[in-house]
Amino acid sequence: MNDENQKDKLRQHFARRVTTQARVVLDIWQRLGEQPAAAASFRDDLVNATQKLVRYAQRFEMDRHASAGQALLDALNDCPPGEPLSARHRETLQQAIDNLGHSILRRTDQACDDAPSTFRRTPVYIALSNAEIAARLIKQLEFFGFRASAFGSAEALTDACSLHKPETILMDVNFGGDTHEGIATVERLQTRHDTPIPVVFMSDEDGTIETRLRASRCGGEEFFYPAVDPGQLIEKIETYTHGNNVEPYRVLVLDDSRAQAKFMETVLKKAGLIAHVITDPMQIIKALDAFAPEIIILDMYMPGCTGMEIARVIRQQDRYHSVPIIYLSAEDDVGKQLHAMSLGGDDFLTKPIDPKHLIGTIHNRGRRARSLLALMIRDSLTGLYNHTHTLYLLDQEIVKARQRNHELCFAMLDIDYFKKVNDTFGHPIGDRVLRSLSMFLKQRLRKSDHVGRYGGEEFAIILPDTRESDARAVLNEIRERFQELQQPAGDREFSVTFSGGIASWKGESSQSLCERADRALYQAKAQGRNCVLASDN
Ligand code: GH3
Ligand code: MG
Ligand code: MG
Repeated sequence: MNDENQKDKLRQHFARRVTTQARVVLDIWQRLGEQPAAAASFRDDLVNATQKLVRYAQRFEMDRHASAGQALLDALNDCPPGEPLSARHRETLQQAIDNLGHSILRRTDQACDDAPSTFRRTPVYIALSNAEIAARLIKQLEFFGFRASAFGSAEALTDACSLHKPETILMDVNFGGDTHEGIATVERLQTRHDTPIPVVFMSDEDGTIETRLRASRCGGEEFFYPAVDPGQLIEKIETYTHGNNVEPYRVLVLDDSRAQAKFMETVLKKAGLIAHVITDPMQIIKALDAFAPEIIILDMYMPGCTGMEIARVIRQQDRYHSVPIIYLSAEDDVGKQLHAMSLGGDDFLTKPIDPKHLIGTIHNRGRRARSLLALMIRDSLTGLYNHTHTLYLLDQEIVKARQRNHELCFAMLDIDYFKKVNDTFGHPIGDRVLRSLSMFLKQRLRKSDHVGRYGGEEFAIILPDTRESDARAVLNEIRERFQELQQPAGDREFSVTFSGGIASWKGESSQSLCERADRALYQAKAQGRNCVLASDN
């Protein structure tokens, strides 16, 4: 490892320490909100944790965190100790906390790898006539890392939207009191924004087609009638907020003409796509392995082989059996084009290429390919990777860890006494619990981690570049938080725990790694459940 690398690693290491400490502060604050009665003792915890954060941040020269921490300390010093917080103090504190939350998120966005985000960037706004339901929903949403706010009037909601555009609005059809007043508010709101805000409507009394149509026309993505189920609602909100940021497609281009290849690269990158361009057909296998494209663009005529021949070779590999292949050529003989397509191509574009046409084709093909792929590699109940794909990813991560000399952890989780949940509350509620744990895991883990549904109520997690002690800390924290989550079941609530086993990679095969994690999980069950153990061999 050269000097620069070493320094970089150190910097990353310290940065992690600071963000971890910032997260400790945020967590204390969140608990404070949940147990106001214990405010006095939490206040000390909060001050201590924040002081530590400021010290770390100053030492490691992370200015944004240092100043966010200092602002929070100042706000805390302003609050008279031993007394319940006044509304004004609470608001100042919340603001300081928000800033701190942003300072972590900003870093996560840039680095795109580290640190489970504590909060999503944009808020969810709630405009319900029933304040009690709104408050309950906010609590549930916060568990899943959404920042949610409730509003009591159309004006307050409108002001908030112009200040900060929300990710989703949950709107009572009759919010404000009069018939359809909620819908009317949304109609007005949407005219102020270039892209519509996704809205989830709900109504206790009106599920007619006329109302649904009007709601749908002003951005209503969902319509809950006659009752809203918090579990289902959170799942919906999760879909919209995730669906908003589509990852750019990965496009591999093979064209022997350097000028044409360069042109394609420029066009693709300008459209925000991730392009990898090669000019030598003999490099295709290497490029497939290294780049893992979602779409392939092939020139038809190249020295040594044709695009059709390359397409056949690509199709012979199971993994690329359904990746879209687009041919590029000056060929405008329809017969020849059809023949080329019959050999494994999906589209045919004629040179000179119109960039708009090219990008449009890529988006159409890409969208379809992704939804097909999702059917193949994802579990339909939870949306997590399925068993087969999880193992495939594990093999890939082992290769990477070996190449880069990185650490790697693999964990298996299993819900405790899940059969009892099904028996007591029914299978659909059991399914909902599985989905809530999936969402929870996705939200709390890093982007670079992989979460899969290993089997019935078993989950597998791959944590690249992670030490065993860190994996244990993260999973234990998730375990503790998850058991606090109240699972709604009609007018009852219950909570669920899970056990986990972790194995850190010791240069072995994926099979042996899985077995060790499984054994550790078994031990965790034997030790009384609701705990996470690491494999000791
Ligand atoms: P332990 O603490 O030992 O893990 O006990 P358990 O009850 O969780 O374990 P057990 O393996 O005895 O039961 C697992 C249950 O999970 C049985 C099965 O009906 C249920 N299950 C598996 N897949 C699904 C699913 O997709 N949906 C629902 N609702 N239940 C499922
Ligand atoms: Mg179980
Ligand atoms: Mg099980």
